[in-house]
This record gives sequence, structure tokens and C-alpha cells, in this order.
Amino acid sequence: MSEQVYDLAGKRVWVAGHRGMVGSAIVRRLGDEPIGELITATSAEVDLTRQEPTEAFVARTRPEVVVMAAARVGGIEANRTRQAEFLYENLMIAANVTEAAYRGGVERLVVLGSSCIYPREAPQPMAESSLLTGPLEPTNEGYAIAKIAALELGKMYRRQYGFDAISLMPTNLYGPGDNYDPVSSHVMAALIRKVHEAKVAGAPSVPVWGTGTPRREFLHVDDLADATLLALSTYAGEEHVNVGVGEDISIRELAELICEVIGYEGELEFDPSKPDGMPRKLLDVTRLRGLGWEPRIALRDGIAEAYRWFVEHETVGAG
Ligand code: GDP
Repeated sequence: MSEQVYDLAGKRVWVAGHRGMVGSAIVRRLGDEPIGELITATSAEVDLTRQEPTEAFVARTRPEVVVMAAARVGGIEANRTRQAEFLYENLMIAANVTEAAYRGGVERLVVLGSSCIYPREAPQPMAESSLLTGPLEPTNEGYAIAKIAALELGKMYRRQYGFDAISLMPTNLYGPGDNYDPVSSHVMAALIRKVHEAKVAGAPSVPVWGTGTPRREFLHVDDLADATLLALSTYAGEEHVNVGVGEDISIRELAELICEVIGYEGELEFDPSKPDGMPRKLLDVTRLRGLGWEPRIALRDGIAEAYRWFVEHETVGAG
């Protein structure tokens, strides 16, 4: 295990975006830590895309630690068709939260990004050093540029002001609290919904976007929360850190696995008119492993758990 560089005990911790999948997982995980106080605000209470309310909130609540889990997120179609929103909102959130945290005397800031920051043709697995070495994948360029700006802000505030910001770049995430909307969701949530609905309807097949050949790596959000807490107490470098499991599978294999877990025996019907996006997105997790971290949740178990959450919260009659 790595040495402790920061002690969370007794600290006032603001989880920005605590209602989202990532923020809520971090809040759950913080429940195991002897922090002083958890600080939260809904987007209706504090609009993080606006500088003045963001700075006023930080000045009023005086957090010592900030976890930037607030973001406009979505799957390939939402990203592709709403690039301006994804760029603008994520850029503003990053700039406002970073500046407010610095001005407000925050001791540590954790920036959470995404593996889509890497060039489309980056060598796989993608090391942290691949950043800004080539053109981005066009379907998520807006989001990626905002997240690159977020991590560069942290880096430059560290260099110029000695502000203690660290950045984590997780791979594709899934788990409880995900967005299960069939159009704007990511692939895991979308396929859990579609396969479930096909099973309930007795449909002969389930639609899967693209060719099924792209490869993705999937990290359970509770594992991300765990890695975030570890980095918060043991990592203080200016370089960002990839967070992944170190293994990927094709979208076809993912769809087959989801069918197995849900117990659906129909066919997969690929729709190549929908975009594939990045051909492959696998992170090099050497730096993270150097901190002594390993994921705990196996993909099949994580899918089964996400499916149970979906059935409890998202299906008719649930509640
Ligand atoms: P990406 O990792 O940024 O490309 O985001 P997604 O999780 O949205 O998509 C990953 C891959 O899954 C892409 O190749 C999609 O075309 C494919 N995919 C297959 N079916 C679906 C679906 O129903 N929804 C989404 N979002 N993606 C799907």
C-alpha cells in the first residue's frame, strides 16, 4: 500500500454532484470514513455553471476537500447530438469549481474525468501519456475537450499556485443510480433496459447499436468510489491517473453477458446505422496499480447487481 499523504479524518468534504451515479457512490463510500462533515447541494440550490453562486456556496460552507463529480454526462447519442451543451456545461463547472475551491482555501480537489479524453487512435491500452497526442473521437469531442480542460486546470493551478488538485480518469462506468433512459444512456444501462424489456415482452430479438465490434472496459461505480478515496489519501501528483479494470470486452460480448444474466434467450439485432464511436477504449492502469489498488467487483456480479437496482427503481410498479 502507498503512504498516506492526506488524512480525511474530521474534514469537511463537498461532493459536487452527489445525486449522480458517481457522486452518490462516493457519498456511500465516505460513509465508511471518519470525515467531519459531508457537504452537498442540488443543482437547483447551486448552479455550478454560474460562477457567482458557486463561489458563494464555497465561501459559505467552507469545505476542506472537494470532489468534482458534477457533470453533464450521457451515452454516445447524447454526446454526439448535444456537443455544445456537453462542452459548455462541463467547462463552466470545471472552471467555476476549481477557481472557487482555490479561492475558498480548499486543501484538496479531486477532478473526475473520463477515458474519452484520449485520442481516437491512441495505442491500447491507453496510458496517461497519450493525452493530447492526436485527434479526438468525434462523437464525444465536446465532452472530451471539457474534461481535458478540467484536468489541465487542476494541473496548472497546482503549478502556479501550489493548489493541491488531483485528477482521475475513469473508464466506462456502470452501477446503481445510472441513467437508464434508452436514448441518452451509456451502453450498459441501455442494454440492461432493452434486454429486460425484450424478455418481459417475449420479443424475438433485442436491438443493439452499431456493429458490436467496438471494445469497452467497464468499471463498477463502487470500485471508482473506492479508488477515489484511495487517491484522495495517497496520491498528490500533478499527472492524472487512469481508473479502470485493465480488461475490455466487445459490445457483442457485453450484450451476450447481459442476456445471460437477465435470462433472455432471443437474438441480438445489430443496427450499423448507429455510430460505433471509438474502436477500442482500454486504459493502462499501471499508475493506479502502483498505488496498490485493484477493482473488487467482477463484471458479471456487477451486472447482476445493476440489474437488480434497475428492476427495483426503474420498472413499472417499482417503488
Ligand atoms: P462511448 O463509450 O462513449 O462510445 O459510449 P456508450 O456507452 O454510449 O457506447 C458504447 C458502445 O456501445 C458504442 O459502440 C455504441 O454504439 C454501443 N451500443 C450498443 N447499443 C447501445 C445502446 O443501446 N446505447 C448506447 N448508448 N450504446 C450502445
